[in-house]
Amino acid sequence: MVTSLFWFLSLLYKSNNSYFSTRSSSSPQFPLGRRAACDIYWHGVSFHDNENIVSGQVNKFPGMVEMLRKINLSRAMRTMQELFPEEYDFYPRSWILPEEYQQFSAQIRMVKERDTTVSPTFIVKPDGGSQGDGIYLIRDPSDLKLMVGAQPKQAVVQEYIHKPLLIDKLKFDIRLYVLIKSLEPLEIYIAKEGLTRFCTEPYQEPTQKNLSHVFMHLTNYSLNVHSGNFVHSDSQSTGSKRTLSSVLYRLAAKGVDIKRVWSDIIALVIKSVIAVVPELKLHYQADIPPGKPGPTCFQILGFDILLMKNLKPVLLEVNSNPSMRIEHEQEVAPGVSEYVPSPVDEHVKVGVIRDTLRLMDPFNKKPTVNMISHSTQPLL
Ligand code: ADP
Repeated sequence: MVTSLFWFLSLLYKSNNSYFSTRSSSSPQFPLGRRAACDIYWHGVSFHDNENIVSGQVNKFPGMVEMLRKINLSRAMRTMQELFPEEYDFYPRSWILPEEYQQFSAQIRMVKERDTTVSPTFIVKPDGGSQGDGIYLIRDPSDLKLMVGAQPKQAVVQEYIHKPLLIDKLKFDIRLYVLIKSLEPLEIYIAKEGLTRFCTEPYQEPTQKNLSHVFMHLTNYSLNVHSGNFVHSDSQSTGSKRTLSSVLYRLAAKGVDIKRVWSDIIALVIKSVIAVVPELKLHYQADIPPGKPGPTCFQILGFDILLMKNLKPVLLEVNSNPSMRIEHEQEVAPGVSEYVPSPVDEHVKVGVIRDTLRLMDPFNKKPTVNMISHSTQPLL
């Protein structure tokens, strides 16, 4: 078993993708050339990538992709905000389009009428979008793009956090990796090391003029990598992508109480998971009803978190398939690009996958890991 796990890790490391079945159930990859029962199955996208698994563990929960889409996550957060407004104030106010267009317009009109000097900004995110695709900022409901051709566009429109914490005058966000080891009992592991992704244009609070400056407002790597200012760095504490620990050290050196920041982040993660657990359990029971042979599930999630200027963490989104790429494209000669290792990605992501495998290894009773555990019962 140990060798198969190590092999599994090295395969994952090289292909940075998946283990047995990958993107579609019609084209599974079986490196051994046969379908042998496994202790761990590593799917590329969703639980259903490889059907008919009756034992072992799968790295995806049924329903997770759907639950974490922007609209569904916003609905789950809203439900919790209605029940526990103070506990769930880490999620920005959001409206679902097209169905809540009228409420959104009416509320903004009311705010503006009450105080003519305020002009709040909103960020619009297409429901199935990722990597900043299709995202734009608006200051008036009339600027919403409500249709794609003849179809109404499904999206979330959200209060824009206009006072983020800046480092080197740049906006940045945190990518935190979280392992859901089990739903019942709920066991959550939070990786101690994460990534921070920096904008490439100095931040200014939104104005009508700068709304379209994506390098100033959006922290996505996939967007900023195209800016002439993007810095690929070998160091973990400089450049456009840095480790979370390097950023926390820097804040600590300025006198910030980073223990407090970290405990607020942990609370945000746990509360967010709690918000989606009831529906996840329904999906689980539908796909693997009690008594039916099936695998158990675990999943690595990518939490995107923004720190506000007052150091309060805000949840932006939760990614059900966080990228595990450990290299980036680089132009090695004019017009010739190559994939080269990215030390900061490698440092963080290899650690996350290694610890996940240690935690999920059924024979490893006392794994040593660099993750913090949170559980409804004593662990390990
Ligand atoms: P995507 O899945 O397309 O990356 P996100 O929700 O992560 O969508 O948003 C993309 C980027 O936009 C974030 O990384 C962040 O920089 C910025 N962003 C998203 N929501 C907000 C918000 N409410 N306030 C301020 N900035 C935001």
